[in-house]
Amino acid sequence: MITHHLSDKLLMAYSAGSLPEAFNLAVATHIALCDECRARLASFDAIGGAMLEQTQPTSVVLQDGALAATLARIKAAPAIAKPVHEPRGEGILPEPLASYVGGDIDQIEWRGVGGGVRQAILQTSKIATARMLYIPAGVAVPDHGHNGMEMTLVLQGVFADETARFGRGDIEIADEDLDHQPVAEPGEDCICLAVTDAPLKFRAFLPRLAQPFLRI
Ligand code: ZN
Ligand code: ZN
Repeated sequence: MITHHLSDKLLMAYSAGSLPEAFNLAVATHIALCDECRARLASFDAIGGAMLEQTQPTSVVLQDGALAATLARIKAAPAIAKPVHEPRGEGILPEPLASYVGGDIDQIEWRGVGGGVRQAILQTSKIATARMLYIPAGVAVPDHGHNGMEMTLVLQGVFADETARFGRGDIEIADEDLDHQPVAEPGEDCICLAVTDAPLKFRAFLPRLAQPFLRI
């Protein structure tokens, strides 16, 4: 049961194709798990399509061959890779996340970041960073603030912070106004996809020291 969803703003930006790759990945993966946001996206896509149609000139008579040339250009244009919103049958990771990871969670090459927390940075454009996070059951991520936007999508387990509780499929959207300390609930290790477009603000000295090496 997903209770934390994408904002209209994010769905609109995703529909318009204006998000950095890492954010696209988080949005598409949430949509793969969430019927509600998939339906909301469909209506934003429809609105976008209608707006495009309205901006087409209607009274211009195309010169001979112009229409054919335009159609040929459209046909020749490379197909835009639309993420597949199909959850995978078995594993924990739906598409398109599974493709970025190169399989399911057993394919992830984790690196320790301290306190038992592990990460794996995914290959995306440099404008924003996407990482898989592994938080052992009962373990807390260091208390931090944000210099930009952070989206955290839960794939396995549950984490809670000062604002709420997040389980599989839930997405937390944090910005400059939020300081929090996510803690994985006891019982099951928590695995998340976290994307950020700016470094986090750590209060404690040690995480601050390690930050440049971990690209957090
Ligand atoms: Zn949703
Ligand atoms: Zn955060």
